[in-house]
Amino acid sequence: MTAAPVPPVATERAIRAIVGAGHPAHELDLAMTPPPAPSDALTRRRLLGAAAAILASAGLGPLGCAAAPGGRFRDDPFTLGVASGDPWSDGVVLWTRLAPDPLAGGGMPAVPVPVRWEVAEDAAMRRLAAAGETVARPEDAHAVHVEVGGLRPGRPYHYRFTAGGAASEIARTRTAPAAEASVATLRFASCGCQSYESGFYTALRRLAEEELDFVVHTGDYIYEGARRPGRRWPAVRPHPDHDCVTLEQYRLRYALYKADPDLRAAHAAHPFLCVFDDHEVANDWGGDGAPGGARGAAFLARRAAAFRAYWEHMPLRRAQRPAGAALRLYRRLAFGRLVSLNLCDTRQYRTPPPCAGKIAERCAADSDPRARMLGRDQSRWLADGLARSHARWNVIAQQVPMMAFDRGTGSGPARHNMDAWDGYRAARGRLLRFLAAAEIANPVVLAGDLHRAAAAALAGGAPDPAAPALATEFVNTSISSGGDGRAITRTTRNWLARNPHVGFIGGLRGYCRFTVTSDAWQTDFRVLDRVTVAGAPARTGASFAVEAGRPGAVGA
Ligand code: FE
Ligand code: CA
Repeated sequence: MTAAPVPPVATERAIRAIVGAGHPAHELDLAMTPPPAPSDALTRRRLLGAAAAILASAGLGPLGCAAAPGGRFRDDPFTLGVASGDPWSDGVVLWTRLAPDPLAGGGMPAVPVPVRWEVAEDAAMRRLAAAGETVARPEDAHAVHVEVGGLRPGRPYHYRFTAGGAASEIARTRTAPAAEASVATLRFASCGCQSYESGFYTALRRLAEEELDFVVHTGDYIYEGARRPGRRWPAVRPHPDHDCVTLEQYRLRYALYKADPDLRAAHAAHPFLCVFDDHEVANDWGGDGAPGGARGAAFLARRAAAFRAYWEHMPLRRAQRPAGAALRLYRRLAFGRLVSLNLCDTRQYRTPPPCAGKIAERCAADSDPRARMLGRDQSRWLADGLARSHARWNVIAQQVPMMAFDRGTGSGPARHNMDAWDGYRAARGRLLRFLAAAEIANPVVLAGDLHRAAAAALAGGAPDPAAPALATEFVNTSISSGGDGRAITRTTRNWLARNPHVGFIGGLRGYCRFTVTSDAWQTDFRVLDRVTVAGAPARTGASFAVEAGRPGAVGA
């Protein structure tokens, strides 16, 4: 089969016109916005000409594999599921990507395809709250991002997509409470680090079963590496045997991950707030390079491909659409007056880490006052937003642990992960001192990356047991990375002894579940005993509570 020629660019109107005609009557009945009529006969002829070109190429090209003539799919185009994300009080982002043959480049012809979306108040999709049509374009890998507005605050909604006669599953999402609402209780989760190779996504299935307002994903949504024989983690489900460097390779990796039924279920159950960490691009990358790899233009080309594939597969707003190698990831979401949530980016604007970002003994460079973790613009944005916040709890959700964390073994010297905030001590100290000086209400830091769960008190940048806690940090363990863990080992016992400000370290897989009220923040570390076999139940491995006004976690 030969590749279809790329047709002339058609306007959205033209595409609506064609597919409107091909839709069954019951779908047209659902339409709340009729396809707009072209303004004059000449425009109409030109649009119909473009439409005919699309249909002709579709009939001759690879669409034939996936869809019957007339733009109707033969195979399910919703193999990667649907997702929602970044809820505001009046709306949410809806995402899907048409991919009838996900592991063969998607299986779509190189033509734009209209996609209808519907949001309803009920699971049967009878009481429609909003609906419309968008276009899945080949240059976006046929992914669509719909920013729905006009919804009511703080309530659940159901949504689905239809395209070419096929309908997606009906999924659930939820809008954020109104900006000034006094929210009694907010329940959400954080998760990350989902190496497909290392285990099944049972933790994501259990996450889907929780009653939550939303989920924060702290990154390592994919792992970009090739399968390496003899690597430390067991390969339960091997990756294709290459490193992701090109856009096509990153897209293929996302397709592999996103087709997983447990991951699909988690997205279909809750809106996600996503940030990337390192493995969405390259291991331990920061700024314009990765340790031991290329820096500068060659890396930025790879970063641009990685960002593009990330955007294509996440429920992100237009503001997060990348321009080349730049993607504005940092943003703020409000949940009434209870929680202000700052999603931060500790990768894109950081200076190179000391000791090549390795776990190493301390060096002068880890306290370099010129070293930056957030970069100047993001730091200003964060400080400004925190200073203006009236929220009861101010969350900084980001990638790498902020706590000082001595990972030394036995009676050996102190060792720190220079890829995390321990490699950027001056920057961390400035941020924590700002939280204290500006009297930011109840700061809570969320992180991932560690592949272990942790609860810690953050104090002025130094792991001094006598220093007063300025903030509280909760680190989510991995969904699957590292394979089956162990709850407690000699190593973690040793770490707890070395780090008195760390109240908990757990080595099993799972996620964090947070229940937040005006008076207290409770964290339940949800854990699974196995992820290398499917179907394990989740249980609460440990719980910690933070009383409003008293930073530092207390075992519950
Ligand atoms: Fe990870
Ligand atoms: Ca890493």
